[in-house]
Amino acid sequence: MKLRIACLQLNPKLGEFEENANFAYSLLQETFKEKQVKKPNLLVLPELALTGYNFQSQQWIEPFLEETAKGASTQWAQKVSRTWDCFTLIGYPEKSLENPPRIYNSAVLVSPQGKVINNYRKSFLYEADEHWGCSESSDRFQTIDLSIDGKIVKTSFGICMDLNPYKFEAPFTDFEFSGHCLKTGARLILCPMAWLSPLSPSIKKDLSEIEKSRLEKLYLEKMDNVEFKLSNELKKDEVLPTRINETLETVNFEPSKPDYSNINYWILRFFPFLTHVYKRDVLKENAVAVLCNRVGIESDVLYGGSTTILNFNGKLPATQEELELYGQTNSLNPSVEVLGALGMGQQGILVRDIELT
Ligand code: GLN
Repeated sequence: MKLRIACLQLNPKLGEFEENANFAYSLLQETFKEKQVKKPNLLVLPELALTGYNFQSQQWIEPFLEETAKGASTQWAQKVSRTWDCFTLIGYPEKSLENPPRIYNSAVLVSPQGKVINNYRKSFLYEADEHWGCSESSDRFQTIDLSIDGKIVKTSFGICMDLNPYKFEAPFTDFEFSGHCLKTGARLILCPMAWLSPLSPSIKKDLSEIEKSRLEKLYLEKMDNVEFKLSNELKKDEVLPTRINETLETVNFEPSKPDYSNINYWILRFFPFLTHVYKRDVLKENAVAVLCNRVGIESDVLYGGSTTILNFNGKLPATQEELELYGQTNSLNPSVEVLGALGMGQQGILVRDIELT
């Protein structure tokens, strides 16, 4: 089955829903109407895509909380889905009608007809979620039977921190989320994210406040100078994993380049899908992971962009030599293909045709 997937990498302004929603809509219009890029079957947006993410308190986020799969983000997704005849997955802050009501970090999936198909709640919380009173999902990860053009596609959802070890405390090798996806036979893995850049001043403990604000200014200036990026075909120089050995220390903030230290880390978190070191018969069919991240700065938090679409093809290295050469779990590993990636500090749209074999 062939599918056209689009990811919208945004820089939403914290608490400016209307402005963010209108701007995101205009980017879609520019791409699929004015530039006449062929419309996608599925559009994915980041975590808390239209509200912004780094709210410091429950009181602050309160006016932006949305009733389960009924609020402004869902309505925006319904309008988009009907206009471009596609599925839309969007992250939003949810307030459930349970008694007492609870707050969740959620992603709602809407059909091309505008019908709500699924509401997923983030299972593994990041510190920032707790600042605004968010609860963990009570039913952990989800894989659903998604019907696309009469065919069933096993589809899993994960939101950002779901990719990490639980609370950063569980053993790294538990691979909770990717293990769930592999076990449930997921072919499509959809992840709205607000993933930090390794350069984020917020995680640089050794910097003074003055040094941090200097950095924030520098990153903002650099981001001001980049334009919206449309990437609708695979261009070798954009996506080749040439910076494979990039470590946290060596990443420079270059807004229009993908940050391979993050991309390689995400690939590592899908270790169970990298079959060459696993059992030979684990992955019979390919699986595609769509990681839609945001960019920009919210106070001292710098997000890492680098939205990417990964194809886990189940291909094994043929020889011992190859195994030694490509045996690392990163974007050079033959069982994963980086089908495209956006820059680390640039708004943009990544459109790719994928095939589920
Ligand atoms: N650990 C992730 C990060 O560093 C989680 C962020 C999130 O859940 N939004 O970005």
